[in-house]
Amino acid sequence: MSRISEAVAPTETEAKGTPAVGESEDEARERIARHVRAILEELGLDLNDPNLERTDERVADLYLEMFHGLREGAEPEVTTFPNDEQYSHMVMEKNIPFYSMCSHHLVPFYGHAHIAYIPGERIVGLSKFARILEFYAKRPQLQERLTEQVVDCLVEKLAPRGAMVVIEARHLCVEMRGVKKPGALTVTSALRGVFHERPVREEFLDLLRRP
Ligand code: ZN
Repeated sequence: MSRISEAVAPTETEAKGTPAVGESEDEARERIARHVRAILEELGLDLNDPNLERTDERVADLYLEMFHGLREGAEPEVTTFPNDEQYSHMVMEKNIPFYSMCSHHLVPFYGHAHIAYIPGERIVGLSKFARILEFYAKRPQLQERLTEQVVDCLVEKLAPRGAMVVIEARHLCVEMRGVKKPGALTVTSALRGVFHERPVREEFLDLLRRP
């Protein structure tokens, strides 16, 4: 069972490189590790337990990696090319995997994105789709906002005739707490330009269904 929810416009302030991960990564790692130690102690855990040895540092490393999209300079270079062939049909990349952390619980949500656009004057290498997706996924995130940010990035970089992004994901914060059946998929979509026209959307869905 999948739920189609109309993606909402982003409301939260976009984080753009905070001091915590700005200047020195080593300093940030040490500060995060210190806070993780405090949480573990607050939970009554014995930090001399060999199983917890260096857990604080490992969590700090993990956070720096999972939230890499917050770092200054993390934005991918998206080189575009002139559409010399005047290609005017849909370009689609299906099943691009991603991993993110929900901004409400800092627990993973993960799945696949399907990204398509219809070129105007510029085209882009398909590998950039995955780079853009990863950049926006590697931060505390909401699935709806991730979907909107990816489609807006394509519009900004390419000025296409239209673009559409569908994301299907599992949310561990929901599954682990038993509210929803394990394996349930949340589906979000965002579209711009000519994708507002039904035949264009149908072509997208048709391409999506093809093996
Ligand atoms: Zn959550």
